[in-house]
Amino acid sequence: MDREKKIIKVSFQGIAMNLFLVLFKAIVGFIANSIAIILDAVNNLTDAVSAIITIIGAKLSGKAPDKEHPFGHGRIEYFAAVIISAIVLGAGITSLKESFLKILSPADVHYEWYTLLVIIVAIFVKFFFGGYVKNVGKQIDSQSLIATGTDAFMDAVLSFSTLVGAIIFLVFGLNIEGYLGVVISIIIIKSAISILKETIDTMIGQRADAELTKNIKQKINDYKEVHGTYDLMLHNYGPSKLMGSAHIELDDDTTAKEIHALTRKISEEIFKEFGIILTLGIYASNDSGKAKVIKEKLEEIIKDYTDVLQLHGFYLDDEKKQVSFDIIIDFKCENSDNVKNEIIDKIKNLYPEYEYEVVLDTDISD
Ligand SMILES: [Zn+2]
Repeated sequence: MDREKKIIKVSFQGIAMNLFLVLFKAIVGFIANSIAIILDAVNNLTDAVSAIITIIGAKLSGKAPDKEHPFGHGRIEYFAAVIISAIVLGAGITSLKESFLKILSPADVHYEWYTLLVIIVAIFVKFFFGGYVKNVGKQIDSQSLIATGTDAFMDAVLSFSTLVGAIIFLVFGLNIEGYLGVVISIIIIKSAISILKETIDTMIGQRADAELTKNIKQKINDYKEVHGTYDLMLHNYGPSKLMGSAHIELDDDTTAKEIHALTRKISEEIFKEFGIILTLGIYASNDSGKAKVIKEKLEEIIKDYTDVLQLHGFYLDDEKKQVSFDIIIDFKCENSDNVKNEIIDKIKNLYPEYEYEVVLDTDISD
């Protein structure tokens, strides 16, 4: 089953589960004439709403690319996740407020059998369903399902605390429901914020997963013609849509014909293996004779700069009397231009007959 279908299936199950709880609570609420239980049923209605948002998000984000959105609509799913986590956050804040009110003015509590019955059923249904949804969400990398699952799971924990509060009240005559509510509301708020943060981080543009980027580089470096893979950059247009670019070092006498065949083969393999559309740029490399000597000197100079993370794309053009290379400087270095200029000065002192063209690269991937 594909990702979109899975999300929709799980969400429909969520709607069915919540509607069952709404009906069950409403019936028990009417029989027992308890406003609290009927109001509690309303909470399940809002949970059904977040399942509907998930379905809409999955449907919209699965839409094929069009002229206005050539990268597809995958990022819509992040909006759905933001809306759902905002709903969960709102629920957490409301429950925190209500719990405080319960501490300030404890109402006369009297628990009846039907109250406990409703609570126990809610705990079981929400606990197993929440775990299930969260699991599927992690499997298929869907933030909205993870948010929905966490929400259901937290509902179960909240109901459980009500149950514990009721038992403590029945046994010891102590009313601690408000205090339990405060603790759990804070947990709900915290988990909502962490899901919100994770989704927003993805929208801002996060550092790509180190294991993934290392694997991609390894795959490309396995080609005997490739001397190194650098500047791997990945962009994300939804959880299952990645594209990007990388630079590869090739012998400087490689022909366009050979580059054409090689880069096509690499791009094809990367797409098959990782589902990533990768564009390749070429660095010429000549690692022998004078080029080798100067490169080694340069490496020695760079050793003194701990902020320089990598040297790549080194090329010596003896006809033009030009040396070019890229260096990656750590994000925490505040004066990267100074570092670059110092390095150029030092190498220029040793080999003044060359012109130096140096690019400062960003430390975008591992
Ligand atoms: Zn570079």
